[in-house]
Amino acid sequence: MQIYYKSRTEIECMRASGKILARCLKEISESIHPGKTTPLELDRIAHKLITDSGASPSFLGYHGFPNSACISVNEAVVHGIPTNIPLQEGDIVGVDLGVFLNGWHADAAWTFPVGEVTQQTQKLLNVTRESLFQGIAKARVGNRVGDIAACIQKYVESHGFSIVRALEGHGIGKNIHEPPGVPNFGKANTGIELKEGLTICIEPMVNAGTAKVKTLSDNWTIVTEDNKYSAHFEHMIAITRDGPEILTGL
Ligand code: MG
Repeated sequence: MQIYYKSRTEIECMRASGKILARCLKEISESIHPGKTTPLELDRIAHKLITDSGASPSFLGYHGFPNSACISVNEAVVHGIPTNIPLQEGDIVGVDLGVFLNGWHADAAWTFPVGEVTQQTQKLLNVTRESLFQGIAKARVGNRVGDIAACIQKYVESHGFSIVRALEGHGIGKNIHEPPGVPNFGKANTGIELKEGLTICIEPMVNAGTAKVKTLSDNWTIVTEDNKYSAHFEHMIAITRDGPEILTGL
């Protein structure tokens, strides 16, 4: 598969998918009540909002994924299958969604604290979110994909956390995953050059302890090897001549 650069009209379509996704994440963030809400309820909220908007959930049935949302709690990094176990005070919950509207996908994720979390956990969330925005700032015409990667890695490691290396961000458009790969670690001034019309998902996955991960026996959920917490923030962005545009913001 080759890199496909989008026209302004095509980016407009992706913006529409992205808006639905952003509204969905906001609604989910307001629906998390410690001791009550289950990941499966959040999945149902996502499914209803996406389908009520005339779109469909990109992840449902993707390689056989059984739900609309990937919901990854605490030591789960990504690809969590929603469970009926209520979220507890002090947990963190990563919600990763894909929205398909009129032929175009959007993909974004956010990790939310459940009630009060420890200072160290809040720091993990803050550093991961900020590393995403630092990476986005490098998504400019003339830079290379390695500039995004190196920037994210440097920021995360300077705060004492580790970057998951087994997974990376990706191009997106008519396909939920398409070239190029967008790693979260690497060397500046390497990799493909960023050109106008490129649409990518930048998605740092940051662990409190070891960078190493493993897959659970459900064949989906990826967890940290040491069971320490992991956070994940993702935006879909377009590279424009005016700089990076976040397509999954409100
Ligand atoms: Mg993604």
